[in-house]
Amino acid sequence: MTILVAGGAGYIGSHAVRQLIDRGERVVVLDALLTGHKASIPEAAVFYEGDLRDRELVERVFTEEDIEHVMMFAAFSLVGESTEKPLAYYDNNVHGTQVLLEAMAAHGVSSIVFSSTAAVYGEPAYTPIEESADTKPESPYGETKLAMEKMMKWCEKAYGIRYVSLRYFNVGGARENGEIGEDHNPETHLIPIILQTALGQREHITIFGEDYPTPDGTCIRDYVHVEDLIEAHILALDYLKRGEKSNVFNLGSSAGFSVKQMIEAARKITGCAIPVRVGERRSGDPAQLVASSNRAKDILGWNPQRTTIDKIIADAWNWHQRSPNGYQERVER
Ligand code: UDP
Repeated sequence: MTILVAGGAGYIGSHAVRQLIDRGERVVVLDALLTGHKASIPEAAVFYEGDLRDRELVERVFTEEDIEHVMMFAAFSLVGESTEKPLAYYDNNVHGTQVLLEAMAAHGVSSIVFSSTAAVYGEPAYTPIEESADTKPESPYGETKLAMEKMMKWCEKAYGIRYVSLRYFNVGGARENGEIGEDHNPETHLIPIILQTALGQREHITIFGEDYPTPDGTCIRDYVHVEDLIEAHILALDYLKRGEKSNVFNLGSSAGFSVKQMIEAARKITGCAIPVRVGERRSGDPAQLVASSNRAKDILGWNPQRTTIDKIIADAWNWHQRSPNGYQERVER
């Protein structure tokens, strides 16, 4: 079975590539390396360097490789950046998905597991958020992911392409052996910033606001371990292979942790002081985002085993210690 992993050199996609290979699947990675890392791609995967928006290249991949299923991770994913560059987000995310779906329709590939986001909900009316909640994105990023979901819905009706859209909450951690992990430039996510501070690469971490209506005043988020998250993708692939209908699932832990709780947990695990400053709120940050993942548990049989704060931080810390400068230190393949 050959699976195309679009965006397979990124943080989350690279974990999918490894788990698929562990399962004995043949994996083809297509990645433009705009934010991904060539060094994260294992020898066992076939690699095409290039962009989903490149129709000729995408056509070539589908012609040369016997693609049967697709996992789609190739997208820009920063809320703040998306408000400054909305058109770049529409171009890369929406147009890229369009070209991918065109190739799938042309080559009779009829199932896709899709990386979506909690950002499609915007500021939630209630928590934990269920899949039936209103979708009111508050950023171009969330808006483009919702547009991509809708595009797939119409492609199902027209071309019979079934999809599972997985709406991630906050993803953290790394593969347990530390060979791959999170490496963004610039880094904006909480866990790597905390750990870079622990390593002394930053003087302090700035807490973005402590006047939110939460018990300690800092934002609450729902953190899921990247390896558990990818297990849900594999279950979603099996679900589609069984011929089940398209569906949407939240992926989170159903538990919320504040920014201060995350820093405290990291202090215990790393044994480092992790100096903190309190700054202004970051625009667009909801006070609390917590998922109900019951649907994924009930229908996909998802059973996350590593999704505790301690395990997420410990595995991320292992990666950061092994690769303090991310993939820069790694030998190019
Ligand atoms: N955060 C913070 N300082 C940082 C980075 C993040 O206080 O340097 C907060 C951020 O405001 C949010 C939480 O940590 O409440 C998680 O942010 P992240 O960017 O990791 O994920 P998001 O929730 O935006 O997807």
